[in-house]
Amino acid sequence: MTTNVTSSLKEKDEKYVWHAMRKYNPDATMITEKADGVWITDIDGKKYIDGQAGLWCVNAGYGRKELAEIAYKQLMEMPYYPLSHSHIPAIELSEKLNEWLGGDYVIFYSNSGSEANETAFKIARQYYQQIGEPNRYKIISRYRAYHGSTIATMAAGGQNQRSYKYEPLATGFLHVSPPDCYRSPFPDDGTCCEEAAAEFDRLINWEIPETVAAVIMEPIITGGGILVPHDNYMKKVQEICQKHGVLLISDEVINGFGRTGKPFGFMNYDVQPDIITMAKGITSGYLPLSATAVKREIYEAFKSEETYGHFRHVNTFGGNPAACALAIRNLEIMEEEKLIDNSRNLGEWLFEELKQLLAHPNVGDVRGKGLLAGIEFVKDKESKEPLEEGKVAQIVADCKENGVIVGKTSDTVNGYNNIITLSPPLSISKDELQMVV
Ligand code: PLP
Repeated sequence: MTTNVTSSLKEKDEKYVWHAMRKYNPDATMITEKADGVWITDIDGKKYIDGQAGLWCVNAGYGRKELAEIAYKQLMEMPYYPLSHSHIPAIELSEKLNEWLGGDYVIFYSNSGSEANETAFKIARQYYQQIGEPNRYKIISRYRAYHGSTIATMAAGGQNQRSYKYEPLATGFLHVSPPDCYRSPFPDDGTCCEEAAAEFDRLINWEIPETVAAVIMEPIITGGGILVPHDNYMKKVQEICQKHGVLLISDEVINGFGRTGKPFGFMNYDVQPDIITMAKGITSGYLPLSATAVKREIYEAFKSEETYGHFRHVNTFGGNPAACALAIRNLEIMEEEKLIDNSRNLGEWLFEELKQLLAHPNVGDVRGKGLLAGIEFVKDKESKEPLEEGKVAQIVADCKENGVIVGKTSDTVNGYNNIITLSPPLSISKDELQMVV
């Protein structure tokens, strides 16, 4: 591209495109033009390794022609029909997802992670109405969690800087502490997670168990700082849920599709959630698609003759045939190329490499599982005071200058904007990952 063309594009970008989630900075904005494997190229021809897989989603990597071709074929054959009826790609994808989930789930399709979680909340609330427990409506989440950008998913999230100025949010959402063992007052020998799990029990009891419908959690909190819990934490939470008759929703929007070295994040922790939400990696970001997988016994409660007994929820584009066909091929590619094994094996290597950064006076903690990692920066290791946001932002900018895209948390209210995140495509090679390190 000539310099004239690129500068005109930059001007128009600044003039017309409303960018997500940051103050607009034309100098930092990258206008991408091409992508292949783990590499993206901007309109100035500069190449970068994408250490963040777009927005944590391009799990199979860029430039997969066969994904484009399968979507094209499906668009030519049958581009659209609503899932109030059905179509072949949705049926086949649902069967495939069941293989990946290792359970017996019925799948509802939407377009984004936020919608998948909204759908889960509506299902959980109506489920209890259907089975004669109409007082159960509350949903419990954790501070620092992110579950989406809509009014209800923001209420479920525990990052208040995101909801400030958009309130009032949906009601009935409550929060407990996250399993942040680096900053917990309890020892990091498992006790921190036992205490964090016990908070669910206490809150459910305070609230009266018969008013609580569900707990929602990412197995590993991602956007809130890559909080990898001890192995017993999620199981303990599930036991508490079961004791009180509360549903467990696993938000696998980022954790899913191999990111943590297993097909789904919950599979690291020996639990089987009641509802599982997914998006992003389901199509490796090539087309919008999300899903809410619901255990069959919950689904059965909606087979009612009562006027308002069925699930009265629809979205126009959810489960688009091309997106479903593409998702099936995307999952097959992950199987054929053993990308989940790659995530697990390279993830172990990455973690060992990143641990060497702990020798640096400003690196307080390094956490990760699979190809998902976080590096927490502090001013001082003793006090654990977070490093100033500006300095962490500078690290992100320096990485970009050196051709590596990394992410960063942005909790400006509590000061936890000091964590650099890594979540590269699962197709990354060891040499490419070495460059990121
Ligand atoms: N849940 C989690 C854990 C997420 O990280 C996100 C988005 O980043 C969402 C839900 C919302 O997904 P979407 O942006 O597709 O609505």
